[in-house]
Amino acid sequence: MSALLGALRALLPRPCPGCGAQLGTQPGLCGPCRGGLRAEVQRHSPLRAHPEPHLLTLGTYSGVRRRAVRALKFGQARDLAGVLGAALAGGVPGGWSVQVVVPVPLHPTRLRERGFNQAELLGQALADTLGVPCVDALRRTRATAQQARRHAADRDVLSGAFQAAPGRVPRGAVLLVDDVLTTGLTARACQDALLSAGASAVYMAVVAR
Ligand SMILES: [Zn+2]
Repeated sequence: MSALLGALRALLPRPCPGCGAQLGTQPGLCGPCRGGLRAEVQRHSPLRAHPEPHLLTLGTYSGVRRRAVRALKFGQARDLAGVLGAALAGGVPGGWSVQVVVPVPLHPTRLRERGFNQAELLGQALADTLGVPCVDALRRTRATAQQARRHAADRDVLSGAFQAAPGRVPRGAVLLVDDVLTTGLTARACQDALLSAGASAVYMAVVAR
C-alpha cells in the first residue's frame, strides 16, 4: 500500500466490519471490537487424538467474529487479517513450540476468483507476531470442476485431498491456520498430510468455529 493510497483511505469513511462504527485511521477493527477478541485454547476439535488441548480460537462463529470472517474475503482483508492474526498469536501457548505456521490452502478456483487466500493472510500475521516462518506447504491434490461445484455447497467436501511438500515441513510442531473451522474434515486431512510429511505435531488456530 503506497503512502498516498494509505492517506486517501484514511480520509474515506470506512465502517468497522465488526460493529459499523467509523474506523478512521485504525486498521482492521475498531478499538472496542479489537478489545473484545480473546484467544482461547480448546481441548476438543475434529483433529485426531491429541494428549493436550490443541485448538486455538477467538470463539464461536457469531457476532464480531462472524462479521470479521465475512469481511476478510473482501476489501481491507490484509488489515483485518493483521488484527485477527495478532489476536490469535497472543493466545498461542509457549509449550506448543510452534516451528512454522501453515495456512489451509484455498481451492484454486476460489483463489483465482478472489486473488488471495484469507487463511494465508491470517497465517502471515500470526507467524510475524510469533517470529516464525509462514510456509505455504500444502496443496490440494484434487480439483475437478465437479468437486469445485460440490465445494461451493460444502467447503469440507473436498477433504482427503491435500499433500504437503516434505522439504517444507519441519520435524517439529506445525500451527495450521484457517479462518473458520466447520466440520473439520479439511483440518483433519491437512493434519494427516502434515504428519506424513514429517511434522511431529499439528496444532490449529482459527478465528471462529
Ligand atoms: Zn467495531
